[in-house]
Amino acid sequence: MCGIVGYVGEQHPIKILLDGLKCLEYRGYDSSGIVLQNNDECQIIKSVGKISNLEEKINNSKLIESNMGLAHTRWATHGEANEVNAHPHKVGKVTLVHNGIIENAKELKDRLISDGVEFVSETDTEVACALISYYYDKENDIKKAIEKACNEIVGSYAFGILVEGIDKIYAIRKDSPLILGIGEGEYFIASDISAIINYTNQYILLDVNELVEMDSSGYSITTNGKEIKKEVLTATIDASSKEKNGYPHFMLKEIMEEPIVLENTLKPILSDISSLPDLKQYEEIHIIGCGSAYYAGMIGKSLFEENGVRAIAEVASEYRYKKVLYDRKTLVILISQSGETADTIAAMRKAIDNNIDTLAIVNVKTSTIARESKNQIFIEAGPEIAVATTKAYILQVAILSLLAYSCGESDSKVIDDFNSIPSLLREVLDRKDEYLKIAKDIYKNDNIFFIGRKLDYSICMEGSLKLKEVSYIHSEAYQAGELKHGTISLIEEGTPVFGIITEDDIREKTISNVEEVKSRGAKVIVVTNSDIDGYEYVVKVKKVSKYVQSLLVVPVLQLIAYEVAKLRGCDIDKPRNLAKSVTVE
Ligand code: GLU
Repeated sequence: MCGIVGYVGEQHPIKILLDGLKCLEYRGYDSSGIVLQNNDECQIIKSVGKISNLEEKINNSKLIESNMGLAHTRWATHGEANEVNAHPHKVGKVTLVHNGIIENAKELKDRLISDGVEFVSETDTEVACALISYYYDKENDIKKAIEKACNEIVGSYAFGILVEGIDKIYAIRKDSPLILGIGEGEYFIASDISAIINYTNQYILLDVNELVEMDSSGYSITTNGKEIKKEVLTATIDASSKEKNGYPHFMLKEIMEEPIVLENTLKPILSDISSLPDLKQYEEIHIIGCGSAYYAGMIGKSLFEENGVRAIAEVASEYRYKKVLYDRKTLVILISQSGETADTIAAMRKAIDNNIDTLAIVNVKTSTIARESKNQIFIEAGPEIAVATTKAYILQVAILSLLAYSCGESDSKVIDDFNSIPSLLREVLDRKDEYLKIAKDIYKNDNIFFIGRKLDYSICMEGSLKLKEVSYIHSEAYQAGELKHGTISLIEEGTPVFGIITEDDIREKTISNVEEVKSRGAKVIVVTNSDIDGYEYVVKVKKVSKYVQSLLVVPVLQLIAYEVAKLRGCDIDKPRNLAKSVTVE
């Protein structure tokens, strides 16, 4: 969510900062800004909306000579997305970019106002900036000032800091990601490695309140005034994986990558199922995630239950605050693509505080969840740039399915199905014309519904979310049997309703519900693995084991969502208001 890039070195920073911001665009933002500094001179340029707006402003400005700067994309939490609230913020000599939320901003602001500080923005960030500036004025020691301010701040932050008259960049973080990049005679800070991978693959992961001080001659990291040494890591992502490779959108590219990433992730596990953690020792499993990760968790829950394992799936933002009974031997499975999802981190810490085992299913190996969870399984999705997740979701489902399978009797037929999924999925993805035809028929509708039962209902949840995320069409998913208890009143002539029907034991029941909406005028699109006819559209996929069936069905819904969004001219890879890695509560 939002992004930070900082540079100090021999070059003028502007190109590096703008390149970096563009790489971080996928994280979601609503405004952006940069600061360049040169001794006592400091130039701030900010803009609302796309980075191209900022770029235009920069092109029309006379830039100061400089070899250090910070850049920021903001995803507003405090105050609307306007130019005044955009970062960087400057108070006194201190200029700050910030990712995160200062929870005690109001209290700190009142205190600073009574000390005579004046504020121009509505942001919590300006409060943090003023606090650092306040202590800097008092102490005349910027590192002490930053540490003092951070000790008083409650909430999450990744800060990039410049101080007039000091030719150095400072950075510090807590519960929001930030790394230090190391080049030759140049140093970077960034929210993630993708922002600087074109310049260096050497980086250091910063832990809580480790304070970075850097200039073109080097860097130091201190905690509470003491210098510490940290391991320098080498990033393995290759810069080309951030390109669209000829696809018009990352979302389409990433859907098309699903077979290969499934192969890469599943192959090593399938060759030695015993390499999976032993889940049979647990009496209860809690699967926690947000958005699509939660819906992947719902599928996992159904499959665990089918195998006789007690399981719940819960939204992280609820789980973290609710009373949870840990009276059985419990495993908490955390699902997060980025591994930085704030609510999922909090849920993980709750489990750890209660001495409960945790298992993370994450994509980003260096993330907070990957590092703090007791056990980890990594999905090999590679970078996922489109905000709406597709390939990472598919891999989350695949891993949960394997874990659920590992709790039951071994069955070579199921393993064969897991092995055959990548090639079967390639066939499903090849049928784009079929999905485009459906999309053309529904893209002008204002409301679209998805109905299914049990595991099919979990598929509906993801299908509906994908559609609304990227196309902005209002969409809901319902348990098929629930419809007649209210929602059916919304069905009118021509309302599209997707019926997901893959489970044999409830096939006839769902068909009856589909009939109910059809007889009230709905345009029915059935996605199934059996021979069903009599509806406007029937998309049939191969029947496979329940463990892998959803892996053939959800991609159909992803592609239809994509085509609908494209027909509506939406900003598919960066839907409005959304952020990729949701690092705030
Ligand atoms: N809370 C800050 C603001 O609203 C920072 C938000 C962000 O992470 O972009 O300005």
